[in-house]
Amino acid sequence: MTRLALVGFRSDANSSYLRGAADAPPLIREALFCESSNPWTENRRELSRDAFYDAGDLGEEAGADTFGRIEAAIGHLLGNGYAPVSLGGDHAITYPIVRAFARKYPDLSILHFDAHPDLYDEFEGNRVSHACPFARIMEERLARRLVQVGIRTANDHQREQAARFGVEMIEMKDFRDGLEIRFDGPVYVTFDLDGLDPAFAPGVSHREPGGLSTRQAIDVIQRLRGDVVGGDVVEFNPRMDSSGMTAMVAAKLVKEIASRIGAD
Ligand code: MN
Ligand code: MN
Repeated sequence: MTRLALVGFRSDANSSYLRGAADAPPLIREALFCESSNPWTENRRELSRDAFYDAGDLGEEAGADTFGRIEAAIGHLLGNGYAPVSLGGDHAITYPIVRAFARKYPDLSILHFDAHPDLYDEFEGNRVSHACPFARIMEERLARRLVQVGIRTANDHQREQAARFGVEMIEMKDFRDGLEIRFDGPVYVTFDLDGLDPAFAPGVSHREPGGLSTRQAIDVIQRLRGDVVGGDVVEFNPRMDSSGMTAMVAAKLVKEIASRIGAD
């Protein structure tokens, strides 16, 4: 059985609108191991605390190379035989995470849940903004395929970028239940919580109505074909989560993604 690792990246310096995602990792962990639920996933894996090696949280320090540290942390876990599941932080962290994964898995594909394509060449002058990670990933050819689900904010620039990079964008307006996405080889799953409808996950910086239900997202994760090797859950902003609901949704997605690692 693949050994799972959990690691938090308390990073939101590249968020364009609101800060707060840096506070998320301890709250997702707390929800993940909360006694209000049990540690079983729907596909019958028991993911209690001791199912994970917990690598702790990495923060942002003034003057430090945060991306370099993230890439090194993930590279270290992969090098030691772990399959890391990362807790964000904003979506900017996925670029250095995927750099490390691509070194181990040169034929990596990515399944990306989001309201936004995150394909901007630059956003407000920042080329590593949380609006840009998949432009950097595709420019560096770190992924063989990028499949996006839940998109409902694509503009002309992002559509041009998607065409340029061969991104397979499944827009929310075209989404139908029962979607089964097939991959050959290793798959990395990155889940931006704003891909869900804000009715299900209000605790995000960019609430975009008309998104996936929690159930629809879990169905896509459960139906996807391919060898899941790692993933992340990002963009939980506790400052927007007045009900405390989104922490539990994030934890559920961590469980369901982790349950697919090494499962096929
Ligand atoms: Mn995103
Ligand atoms: Mn988003």
